[in-house]
Formats: sequence, structure tokens, C-alpha cells
Amino acid sequence: MSEKKLKFNSKTIHGGQQPDAAYGAVMPPIYQTSTYAQTTPGGHKGFEYSRSANPTRTALENALASIENGSFGLAFGSGLAAIDAVIKLLNPGDEVLSTNDLYGGSYRLFKQIFEKYGISFQFIGMQDVDKIEAHINNKTKLIWVETPTNPMMNIIDVKSVSKIAKKHNLLLAVDNTFATPYLQVPLDLGADIVMHSATKYLGGHSDVVVGALVVKDKELADKLYFIQNASGAVCGPMDSFLTLRGIKTLHVRMQRHCENGRAVAEYLAKHPKIEKVYWPGFENHPNHAIAKSQMNDFGGMISFVTKGSSYEDAIKIVEKLQLFTLAESLGGVESLAGHPASMTHASIPKEEREKSGVVDALIRLSVGIEDQQDLIADLEQAIG
Ligand SMILES: *Cc1c(COP(=O)(O)O)cnc(C)c1O
Repeated sequence: MSEKKLKFNSKTIHGGQQPDAAYGAVMPPIYQTSTYAQTTPGGHKGFEYSRSANPTRTALENALASIENGSFGLAFGSGLAAIDAVIKLLNPGDEVLSTNDLYGGSYRLFKQIFEKYGISFQFIGMQDVDKIEAHINNKTKLIWVETPTNPMMNIIDVKSVSKIAKKHNLLLAVDNTFATPYLQVPLDLGADIVMHSATKYLGGHSDVVVGALVVKDKELADKLYFIQNASGAVCGPMDSFLTLRGIKTLHVRMQRHCENGRAVAEYLAKHPKIEKVYWPGFENHPNHAIAKSQMNDFGGMISFVTKGSSYEDAIKIVEKLQLFTLAESLGGVESLAGHPASMTHASIPKEEREKSGVVDALIRLSVGIEDQQDLIADLEQAIG
């Protein structure tokens, strides 16, 4: 059966994978080696040095390409290393148009590293696609989109943004960390590059830090491979193996994340002490229609604010939670709670942060795959 024809739930397990050539191992061995014997200079079996390529990493890269409906995958030492490689496609003087409530680390990388090298960034709300074109000028080269956005759960219409990108001959990159290809496939919606912090849902067990890029275009893939090898922020064999193992259960985990996410979002929305719940599955979510059209379900990421809530109230709730661990990160099997203003988004100035809704009282949940009733009971005792 042609692999391209496999459905998603089969691709997570078989996509890009073959039994190992040496002994037929069904699971890819962890090739913990930096170098490979050559019979004559250049006489090797496709691998010469593990920064350039390593068989375990190649197995992961092939799996990534398969689940994202791309042709080429690249695995990096972290999500930020993957983003770093994308921005290195650009030259001094170039401009990037980015979403405003994006991952704090991406914002820091853009502002504090790349601006020094003469690349500039505009951060705008992209929920209203009609407003994007006014920000494009002859220096703009790349549009960087995160959807759902972090932590406000805004949804951006990738297909419409891709039409604008094509019209102006710009690259469109989508950070698909929150949604995963179980929920949405950016390359199918017209994006050129899809990026992941595989640390989150793809790995799924909070035990690795890994980044990924997937593209369809050969020329673009070659440029990114060159940067990956030349800059060297690759993913090691052990982490490649763990991420690959995570991907094999992505679809079953995501199904449960979505079910639990819905239950928690509905519980919070009915709670008398809760002011606002941000989750794209609600019919009154401002971008619900787009979410419904480009996503298969709505995921397990939820943000909320308690009534009359202050910084102190939010801190009290996250401290009281027991089953939800107070921690950075998301997307693991275990439920996590975070306080964006003091944690993930602390590197974004307060004014900048509040403009996009990241107030001091906001709490973000990554709803795991534990028992639904236990999760709700924990929220009940913490919120009171
Ligand atoms: C975590 C995260 C990143 C950064 O990835 P790392 O693996 O931590 O380097 C980028 N984007 C989003 C949406 C994230 O959640």
C-alpha cells in the first residue's frame, strides 16, 4: 500500500519507517555514534558524520515529513533551534510579519537575537486577515503564524494568510506545536514551512526537548538542510528515538486530550467564579468558524481568568492545584498549569503582553489524559 495513501492514524505508526537494514529491527535502533567507517574516502552507506545525518534522526525526520503531509523533515535540538534555522533563510534588511501573542521564546529570539543582525519584526493580530496586507512592504520576506495562539487561543485562518503570502511572494511558516497534524495540516492549507516544538505533543511525555521543520519544496528543504548542518543545532539519536516513539501514539493521545479539554472548558465556563474561558471549541469563540473549518477538533489547551481576579488570586490557584502540576511546557500526558505573565511570557514586556490579553490573572492549562473526573475535582478544590 502506497504510504502517501495511509490515513493519519496509520502514518503516526508507519510513516517513513522501514525495518532496520542491518538486522530487521522493527523499531529504529538508537545509533549512538558520531561517525561511520568508510571503505575509501567518500565510500560510505549514506552516513558520514552525525551532525550531517544520523540513521535514528533520519527515521524521525521521515516520520515528521509523513505525518505533516510534507516531503522533507528536519529535526533540531529544540523548537527554538528549528525557528532559528528558518530565520537564517533571511538576510539583513529583511522583515518578518508575525502574530502578536506568540510563544514568548519565539518573541525573545526574534527581538533579542535576530534584530541585532538587521532583520526586523512586526507583531500584529492576524485574526482579521484583511488587516495583514497593510503591513507588507518590499522588505517583507516571511509571515510567521502560530495558531491556536499561545496563550490566548486565537485562531488564524491559514488558508487565507497563505493566499496573501503567495500574492506577495512571501514564505509562510506555521508553528503547529499546539494543534499537531492530528488537528490541522498547515502544508495542506498552503503554508511553505511547518514548525514544531516536538518537546510538546509530538514527544508527548515531557521527556525530551526537540524541534522540527517540514516542507514540501525540494529547493527550500536543501536550504534548510544546509543551515541545519552548517549551524549544527541537530537532535541527538536518543531524543530522536524518544520523539519517534511519542509520535506512534499521537493520535490516541490527542483524541483523549480533546475529550478532556472539552470537559474542562465546559466545566470552567459554567463555574460562577470564572470570568472568561479561552478555548476555540466554544461557539461564541470569535474565531470558532475558522477553527471548525481548519481543525479536526479543538485540543486540550485552555486559558482562563477568574472573576475580579488579581495576580495574587491566580498564583493562589496554581499553587493549590495538585493533579495539574505547576510547570512550564505543555502537551505531555500529564496535566500542567501555568501562569503566563510570570512564566512563559515573562520575557514579553507587560504593556505588549496585555495588549494581546495576557493579563496578570490569566492561567493556562495543558489538559492531560488522566481521568476527567479527577481533573475537574482538582480544579474544583483549587478554584473553590
Ligand atoms: C515550546 C514552544 C516553542 C519552543 O520550543 P522548545 O522546544 O522549547 O525550544 C515554540 N513554539 C511554541 C508554540 C511552543 O509551545
